Amino acid sequence: MLTVLPPEATRQAPNPLIDAQSQLAEAVELLGYDDGLFTLLSQPRREVTVSIPLRRDNGRVEVLTGHRVQHNFSRGPAKGGLRYSPDVSLDEVRALAMWMTWKCALLDVPYGGAKGGVKIDPTLYSDSELERVTRRYTSEISPLIGPERDIPAPDVGTDERTMAWMMDTYSAQHGHTVLGVTTGKPISLGGSLGRATATSRGVVHVALEALRECGIDPIRASAAIEGYGKVGRHAARFLADAGVRVVAVSDMHGAVTLEEGLDIDALEAYVDAYGTVAGFPGAEQTERELILELPVDLLVPAAIEGTVNERNANRVQARVIVEGANGPITKEADKILANKSCLIVPDILANAGGVIVSYFEWVQANQAYWWSVGDVEERLAERMTYAWRSVLEKSAQLDVPLRTAATAIAVERVAQAHQQRGLYP
Ligand code: GLU
Repeated sequence: MLTVLPPEATRQAPNPLIDAQSQLAEAVELLGYDDGLFTLLSQPRREVTVSIPLRRDNGRVEVLTGHRVQHNFSRGPAKGGLRYSPDVSLDEVRALAMWMTWKCALLDVPYGGAKGGVKIDPTLYSDSELERVTRRYTSEISPLIGPERDIPAPDVGTDERTMAWMMDTYSAQHGHTVLGVTTGKPISLGGSLGRATATSRGVVHVALEALRECGIDPIRASAAIEGYGKVGRHAARFLADAGVRVVAVSDMHGAVTLEEGLDIDALEAYVDAYGTVAGFPGAEQTERELILELPVDLLVPAAIEGTVNERNANRVQARVIVEGANGPITKEADKILANKSCLIVPDILANAGGVIVSYFEWVQANQAYWWSVGDVEERLAERMTYAWRSVLEKSAQLDVPLRTAATAIAVERVAQAHQQRGLYP
């Protein structure tokens, strides 16, 4: 058994980097590679930590911390989101960057993996403060990014506006507009049709496949969605469109349940008006942690890492779990759930729709030729279906869970690219 490198203690347990490295160790062992390859892939190729001095609207100066981690470049430029959250740590960004490498390889998108993070609670800052933070962070990391180097995208706490500011700052420094430096931009600024809903489309695509695989007819299935943000909100809509009863949703303020299924139109209108699902009329109000433990056919954790962990995994009753977030199930929880014969569709497959359409956006921006929404969605579905089938097949062939199979396919592709390129010098 390969020993997982002790990550620098930048974050208290659960540390997602330990989980990410364990998953890699398992795949390396399964594929019969040596520990040299494990050592190479278990750590980032490049990472930078920057100070971001910010003048607040009241004149005070505050210094924030930001990171950009580039895990791997073997298959192409690094790719991955930028997160604004008070919980950002270097180890978290390292884990998320590694998962991006596997996600891109699994979906055969020609990128390596990266991730960025700024330790900030964006809800406590004004729009102009967030713009100044974004521009200064971009300027600090600008030698490392670019359409051929590393291409940021939205993640938790950032959005298309953040990507527009990043693109503008980078472009101003280069003296011309560089649309391909970020993805997830506004449509009016070189964004792709279908990007905003792409992650949720992909989640629902594999969720329906997974339900059928378990012999559950989606039309009669029930679903609970943890997190009603960029991923969870559209996932609720698309699941309901497919006939699934969405019986519970949650966000950081609370959770609501309704056995006969929530009225998604009314829920969307309520959240647009009040900024939360909590208090949604006609539904039962419940503790947000309980949403993970409901007796549903499908659970979509679409918030942050580690919400399904050794403390609650025993109480999870869902038959199918589709990871809308990155790393929502800890390693310990994964083991507990495996004994409950539950089908878990791993993050690097389930939420890959976002980076797939990011790739389409980058291709469109680099060619200055934009596709129809129909083209985008058809090509997205094609890639999700192909990856789903490959993972299912590998899982059956090796007799391992879907996560191990997905990681093994990805690691094999990255290792192959690495071996074919060779080492310089
Ligand atoms: N942040 C998203 C993810 O974790 C999207 C990344 C991208 O499009 O580059 O997959």
